Amino acid sequence: MDFELNETQTLVRDTARQYAERVLRPQAAAFEKAEKIPAEVLAEMAGLGLMGVNLPAARGGAEAGPVSYALAMMEVARGCASTAVTMAVTNMVGEVIEAFGTEAQRAQHVTALASGAYKAGAFALSEPEAGSDPGAMRTTATFEGGRWVLRGAKQWITSGDIAGVFVVWARTGAPGTAGLSAFLVEGGTPGLKVGHHEDKMGLRGSSTVPLSFDECSVPEGALLGSLGGGFKIAMMALDGGRIGIGAQCVGVATAALEEAVAYAKDRQQFGKTIGEFQAVQWMLADAKTELEAARLLVLRAASLKEARRPFSQEASVAKLFASETAWRVVNRAVQVHGGYGYTREFAAERHLRDIRVAQIYEGTSEVQRIVIARNLLRG
Ligand SMILES: Cc1cc2nc3c(=O)[nH]c(=O)nc-3n(C[C@H](O)[C@H](O)[C@H](O)COP(=O)(O)OP(=O)(O)OC[C@H]3O[C@@H](n4cnc5c(N)ncnc54)[C@H](O)[C@@H]3O)c2cc1C
Repeated sequence: MDFELNETQTLVRDTARQYAERVLRPQAAAFEKAEKIPAEVLAEMAGLGLMGVNLPAARGGAEAGPVSYALAMMEVARGCASTAVTMAVTNMVGEVIEAFGTEAQRAQHVTALASGAYKAGAFALSEPEAGSDPGAMRTTATFEGGRWVLRGAKQWITSGDIAGVFVVWARTGAPGTAGLSAFLVEGGTPGLKVGHHEDKMGLRGSSTVPLSFDECSVPEGALLGSLGGGFKIAMMALDGGRIGIGAQCVGVATAALEEAVAYAKDRQQFGKTIGEFQAVQWMLADAKTELEAARLLVLRAASLKEARRPFSQEASVAKLFASETAWRVVNRAVQVHGGYGYTREFAAERHLRDIRVAQIYEGTSEVQRIVIARNLLRG
């Protein structure tokens, strides 16, 4: 067991850290207020290799592996959680097209995602009536006159207003998960309509939109993977995605803990800094301990993926633990800040709003427990 980072991992982590410290952390509140991440920030991140950390160099990716990706995600999230989720979905979309796409699909879309020619990628699985249960999906794709025609609606699509390419799941066959297929739909395709931004609790710099597919016609070659193979593609993508969200949680909680420590060293009450009170020390110590455990779980799942070993169970364990840990850590950070923690003067309240969704998206905590228990009982 080796806890040391190699040269590539160190370089990727440091690159992401420097960018996050210089550009993201100072502007995260402004991104939230503007309800968008500036296009130049997304382009700069692509230029640094952050939009395709685990994609081949031949397609413009950093080819740095899943551990580097997790480390980069922790650093970007430490700077700005909204930017981190945009990066997470874009990397996930690039990886899924690289894994399941034809040579033509990879050449067109993976290169555009990694290079920043597309601002972002989008992953369109959820629907108004199908969240935890994708088998209830109602969007259909039918083969008509040599083209696929998509009809239906999607819900909660991250970056759906700026994405250059969408991976869209639709029913091509029987009810349930066996009848699902995945398609690549380019942004701006006629019939793909983008709704208004959701008015969210947090992650307000990241756009989340509903989509509707109104007679949306795409070429035969837009099918990703095999007909009826969509559910497998979604589950494999989400396994990797859960490492990304676990890493996002570690990053946000790291920022919150750093800020709580700084505040505890500065704020005075009863003639002492509050960091001298044991009650505050214990909050910080518990936060640090749980955060380190979350970091190791995320990196373990990433290193299994890097070694091309099964990692589905470990990704769910990491995502469940990291998301619930981050919530506790950030909540303690608010507590350490006292009344000021409840105001926008300090970042703690934004971290709390931003990280709440990590227990919901990429599979809720309940869904992670179902996956983990199913694996245990099957074994
Ligand atoms: C900010 C944000 C961004 C998102 N981005 C994307 C995106 O880019 N692409 C995308 O496809 N989706 C995205 N989502 C959707 C997200 O993945 C879903 O919200 C999530 O999967 C839960 O689905 P749901 O909201 O329909 O909740 P539901 O599935 O209706 O669940 C409601 C509650 O019931 C519980 N529940 C459901 N089934 C069970 C069960 N069998 N056992 C126990 N409890 C259960 C859930 O855990 C939850 O507590 C995003 C969501 C948000 C909020």
